[in-house]
Order: sequence, then C-alpha cells, then structure tokens
Amino acid sequence: MTVRTRVAPSPTGDPHVGTAYMALFNRCFARAHGGQFILRIEDTDQARSTAAAEQMILDSLRWLGLDWDEGPDIGGEYGPYRQSERRYIYGQYAWQLVEQGDAFVCYRTPEELDARRDARREAGKSTALKSADLELSAEEQATRKSADAPFVIRMRVPDKAGACVVKDRLRGDIELDWGMVDAQILLKSDGMPTYHLANVVDDHLMGITHVIRGEEWLNSAPKHQLLYQYFGWEMPELCHMPLLRNPDKSKLSKRKNPTSILYYERMGSEILVS
Ligand code: GLU
Repeated sequence: MTVRTRVAPSPTGDPHVGTAYMALFNRCFARAHGGQFILRIEDTDQARSTAAAEQMILDSLRWLGLDWDEGPDIGGEYGPYRQSERRYIYGQYAWQLVEQGDAFVCYRTPEELDARRDARREAGKSTALKSADLELSAEEQATRKSADAPFVIRMRVPDKAGACVVKDRLRGDIELDWGMVDAQILLKSDGMPTYHLANVVDDHLMGITHVIRGEEWLNSAPKHQLLYQYFGWEMPELCHMPLLRNPDKSKLSKRKNPTSILYYERMGSEILVS
C-alpha cells in the first residue's frame, strides 16, 4: 500500500497556523512511509471562499517548506484538487444513497426544523434530528415536490442511544454517542455538497490512506464511518491530533492570539531587518 495523506484547508480568511501544523504531520507521515502528500482545497462554502485566501494558503505553506506532491497548482493523477471544480461529482453519490435507502430527500423548512428540535428537547431527548423527526407523509412529500419546494439530501443515522466505536491511530478505540449524531445534510439546496459528503467522497477517490486532522473533527467521525459503510468503501485510518493551545490550555483563537501564518512571516522579516 502506498501511503497517501492530505491537508484539506478551506480558503476563508488568513492562512491559519493550524493548517501548517496539520500539513507538517501529514507531510512527515507520508515522507516517512515513502508516500505522497496532497493539498486539497475545500471551497464548497462558496460565500466564504476566495481565490486570494487560497493563494495565501499555497504561499504560506511553501514559505514554511511544507510543499506537496499533488495539488490545485501543480495538478496530479487524482485531480482536480479544488472541490468547487469537482462539484459535478458529489450529486451522484448523494442520490446513490437515496436510492439505497441510506439517505432521504428533506423538504423541511427552517421553522419546522426549530419546532422539531423543540419537540425533542421537551421529550428529554438530544436535539440531534433523526430521519423519524424529519420525514413527511408520502402525500405531503409529493405536494412539496410538485410545488418545486427547496430540498436537501440528508443521511440516515441510527435512532438509538449507545456507543459508536471509532478507531483512532493515536487514541485507540473511541466511543461516541449515537444519540448526538444528527441526520446530517449531505447535499445542500443549491446542489453543493457539505463538508461531510465532499470530504468522504474525495478521500476515497483520491486514494487517501490516512486522515490526520485536528481533534475538532472527532465528533464527525461516526458520520464519516457510516458513509464509508453505506458506500461499501474502505475507510482511511483516522488520527485526530491535539489542537494547538495556549500555555493555559485554552484554544488558540483569532481574538486572543495571532493565528495567521502571515503574522509569523512578518515577525520573522522584522527580526531579520532590525
Ligand atoms: N476542510 C476541513 C478544514 O478546514 C478539513 C478537515 C479534515 O481534514 O477532514 O479543516
């Protein structure tokens, strides 16, 4: 097996030090195993993604010497490496799951979603909406369909309490609660995929063998694991790294710390000239 790792930043705002931190582990791991390290741009959030932010990610990772074997600027066998250019790929996978019965078309309005959450809260349940909370009668579904109402595609998730066990290379077996896992949107009403669908589809199609990412993604792991099962694909090995933190263990945040790689670049050049 050829080890293939990736870093998958979203091009919104300044390039974050966390991206460099994850790129470092992924690059070292790939190099240590004679494998490849890939840069993928996750720009499915069209409202927040910009070309300038993408360019800053590329420039700042290169400035740090964290170069990649395949990516949007250099291409590669598994391209394109920008999710907006892969947008035509994801819909068919979402519809495949609908056909398999593992996902469903959801016409619920934002107001209805709020009401369903309130109903769960009042019943003493978690507010993670399940398919049973969302599905309409066949008649109502048909009415909304013929009215061309906006819809999303959501994945089915187990409607039970109990543990979902996720294997992590660093942490061993982790137990997460199915009760907290909602019927995640896979395809948005504008036809764009969410992070969860695009990430799983691309990791699979790009032959990623090890997903090394920040621990803030741990709660998404049950959904991703379930998607791999629904598709019948082998899941890459997961490794959730601890986040960069301040000495008092609080999270780095834009409000409290310089989190932009550009800040450190500027600081370095100031030291050089002074
Ligand atoms: N686009 C996600 C991010 O911005 C990628 C997370 C992952 O590595 O799966 O961090």
